[in-house]
Amino acid sequence: MTDPVETLLYIDGAATAASDGGSYDIFNPARPGELVGRAAAGTPDDVDRAVKAAHAAFPAWASLGYEQRGALLRKVAAAITQDMAEVDARARLFTREHGKILRETHLEISRLGERFVQSANYAERLARDEMIRAAPNDTIITRQPRGVAALVVPWNWPLAILGAKLPQALMAGNTVVVKPSANSALAPTLTLHRIAELLPPGVVNILTGSASRIGDAIIGHPLVRYVNFTGSVDVGRHVMTVAARNITPVTLELGGNDAGLVLHDADLSGDAFHRLYRAAFMSTGQICFALKRLYVHRSRFAQVVDGLRAVVDAQVIGDGLLPETTMGPMNNAKQLKVVTDMIAQARAKGHNVIELGQVPDPALYAQGYFQRPTLVIDADPSLSVVRDEQFGPILPIMPFDTEDQALALANDDQFGLASSVWSADIDRAVALARRIEAGYSFINAHGPSAQDGNGPFGGFKKSGIGRNFGYEGVIQFQGYHSITAAPGSLA
Ligand code: NDP
Repeated sequence: MTDPVETLLYIDGAATAASDGGSYDIFNPARPGELVGRAAAGTPDDVDRAVKAAHAAFPAWASLGYEQRGALLRKVAAAITQDMAEVDARARLFTREHGKILRETHLEISRLGERFVQSANYAERLARDEMIRAAPNDTIITRQPRGVAALVVPWNWPLAILGAKLPQALMAGNTVVVKPSANSALAPTLTLHRIAELLPPGVVNILTGSASRIGDAIIGHPLVRYVNFTGSVDVGRHVMTVAARNITPVTLELGGNDAGLVLHDADLSGDAFHRLYRAAFMSTGQICFALKRLYVHRSRFAQVVDGLRAVVDAQVIGDGLLPETTMGPMNNAKQLKVVTDMIAQARAKGHNVIELGQVPDPALYAQGYFQRPTLVIDADPSLSVVRDEQFGPILPIMPFDTEDQALALANDDQFGLASSVWSADIDRAVALARRIEAGYSFINAHGPSAQDGNGPFGGFKKSGIGRNFGYEGVIQFQGYHSITAAPGSLA
């Protein structure tokens, strides 16, 4: 067994223990008795020091040009992705603390690097101000960074989600205080340390610890000028309330209950069922924009159920470190219970609930937070598995008769994050996607493996406020500033 890893806070250019010396344990979800490491448990005093350090570092960082910040971001991208031995060690640690398979932890690390490069590539576009020459004055419309940005990430995809906000915040000229989730803090914190070390002191500060102890202290700190939060609706609502005390603007990326619509003419040849599988079950289904409700034209319903069932049943459930494993455990007992309760409810109401997949090590399966990938056939719309976000390896499949009916079913939901339309006719699919209440739509795919980080990402309704990713994801970290003078006087 490997020795437990210990991670520290990072404040004002130095790795540091919590002010009271506290730390907390993180266990392996595949073997809940196995201690993977300990993370520093920050205190409100640590929060205050970190925010003040970020505030002090802000003027110098903000005054660097975009090209200079971009060059530093490229250096960061190289440092976190190019040493393959270090990347592999971090990915293995990440799998052990999180549960997800090694291929996905590698993917998260490389995604984070790509987003640093992508943000750096916006340098020229960001540097362009808009000039309006029109009576009564000439006006320059410029943008400026907001100041200290608080970045909060959940446990499910902590590094990839950091990639949706950290490089963008830095490129925009902000300094940051980052809070990883207690449920997956070690590899994200080590990665963040690598990043922080390459930047001037105070630009990136890292606070791990219990959200109930430090969460409000971060969000409500008077020197925090922007909050970018990814997590659940309930905590997002609370974060918005705390931020409101200082009129601090927020971006909230919250939950989703994404619908996928398989039309009568869908092309289900080739790897289509593998794409459907990944859409719903990647990361053991613990993805905000996983496919969570699958509506299939009645003429194709049996074909989709059979095809998906075959692919799902071939998956190997086990320890994410093993090369043969294609699905790891869920991250924590609380989330596992959400899914097992949904299964119990669907069964109690007489539904056809099919638990699939191969389990080579039943003893491990019994001790870890495992759940086989599960299909609920022709699920009633009142079931929790249809109405609520599952955030786990379970997918309800329902038939529809007309596209208008499918659209109404897709939109009859509290969330509006992502969606997908599956059709051989791309124009038809795009026309239907335009009518779905969602911030992001996929055609013939769904989820992170098909995401294009160039487009802004976020949701309608309870899925949140604002957008991450892309150019829009950078300028959200800035505010507009108009400078006006007499006609003809501005260069
Ligand atoms: P939570 O809302 O429980 O936690 C999210 C983050 O907020 C964690 O880092 C948590 O810390 C922190 N937090 C909790 N309380 C506070 C507070 N008072 N102030 C500041 N931060 C706080 O979500 P989960 O981590 O359980 O993630 C799952 C949820 O996230 C799902 O609902 C999912 O849909 C959503 N999500 C949304 C995404 C999107 O892009 N729309 C992407 C990924 C997930 P700690 O963990 O230490 O308690």
